[in-house]
Amino acid sequence: MVVTRFAPSPTGYLHIGGLRTALFSYLWAKKNNGKFLLRIEDTDKARNSHEAAEAIVQAFKWLGLEHEGEILYQSDRDEIYAKYIKQLLDEGKAYKCYMSKEELSELRETQMANKERTMYDGRYRDFDGTPPEGVEPVIRIKAPLSGEIIVRDGVKGNVSFQAKDILDDFVIARADGSPTYNLVVAIDDALMGVNEVIRGDDHLSNTPKQIVVYEALGFELPKFYHVPMIHNSEGKKLSKRDGATDVMAYKEMGYTPEALLNFLVRLGWSYGDQEIFSMEEMQELFNPKDINKSASIYNTDKLDWLSAHYIKNASNSALAELLTEYDLVLTSHDKKEILLDILKDRAKTVKELAVLVKEILATPTSYDEKAVKKAFKEDSIAVLNAFSAEISASEELHLPVDYHALMEKVVHDMEIGFGKIGNPLRVALLGKMSGPGLDSVMAILGKKETLLRISNAVTALS
Ligand code: GLU
Repeated sequence: MVVTRFAPSPTGYLHIGGLRTALFSYLWAKKNNGKFLLRIEDTDKARNSHEAAEAIVQAFKWLGLEHEGEILYQSDRDEIYAKYIKQLLDEGKAYKCYMSKEELSELRETQMANKERTMYDGRYRDFDGTPPEGVEPVIRIKAPLSGEIIVRDGVKGNVSFQAKDILDDFVIARADGSPTYNLVVAIDDALMGVNEVIRGDDHLSNTPKQIVVYEALGFELPKFYHVPMIHNSEGKKLSKRDGATDVMAYKEMGYTPEALLNFLVRLGWSYGDQEIFSMEEMQELFNPKDINKSASIYNTDKLDWLSAHYIKNASNSALAELLTEYDLVLTSHDKKEILLDILKDRAKTVKELAVLVKEILATPTSYDEKAVKKAFKEDSIAVLNAFSAEISASEELHLPVDYHALMEKVVHDMEIGFGKIGNPLRVALLGKMSGPGLDSVMAILGKKETLLRISNAVTALS
């Protein structure tokens, strides 16, 4: 069974790059009827907060990415880590190092002066003397001193690390006893049964260290996939300046989960040249072997395009539900269908859609000056009054065609061009020159509101 996981450190919010690897992990587990697990890596007490962990959980809820079982918090697992640290010490695979901070920085300076790689020199590796007094030791793992460690990576192929170049006996527990990142990641992945690790390639350099831990503890290695970073259009790592990095900011901006997830799945993965993937399709088609080897380029135009696509193709009831976030209750609006039908291909985001809806539903309180100048001619008031009279006299006004017929009638009776009614009527109904078809607008507003808006405009602009 494929078991994947997402293991964020709760230092702020759910990052868009993190979400992408989470999505890959999720899809791969689902495709294989496996399990996708969530683990909060909150061992760094100075940098982690409960609120940040909660924000990540909320983001997952919004996106509908369900994880299997309980969320695992590393901060609950000190005893487990302590047990393995003890085991490594007992088996002579780890040791206490009593080097003081001063000694360590002295060593570092000498190495730098000699233009050597700065690393721990292993001075306590085989120490059996009397430990210096007053120093709380850190615990270091015995890493191989020579040879190579090969990361067999599903994206990058075999990546070989020379032990002497990259490893020193790295610290697995700090002087206060707290375990370090590379130790706990390996322990947790192993104990959770995670057998496929998909994560950002910023972690690739940690992987040989984690392999040392796996081997020291006799755990079976998972398959690794290190996903290249997301870059901006200049080829640099994505930063806040290029666009929002907080996943929930995309919700604020009015993107839907389906648009965002579709956008993300294509950042670094492809299936032919297909761009649009439903969740079901993603689950069916995703395979980490198709993850691109080079960095992907973040492009918000693409996101807007996808978002517009999903809004255009969403059912009106789904859109009405999304609009409730913007204080719009359309579920009972009897003209909801016409309203959303005419607007859904004009909005890139739900937020934009909400603005468009509000622009129609709110009675204008002022009229755009330029529009008035352009639309109102000497006969405009007379035309509007004639149209009002026709509306008042009509019993059956429901659909756009009903209103259209009345406009035609006025045009015919007064022997005028269509613009003579269309332009002033548009300003009267919407306060400006732009917007969707007027017959639809009137059908949405209904007879009473249409008459009110025309009479308001006649009064204000006579
Ligand atoms: N906690 C790490 C991070 O947020 C991820 C660890 C991992 O995926 O192995 O960067």
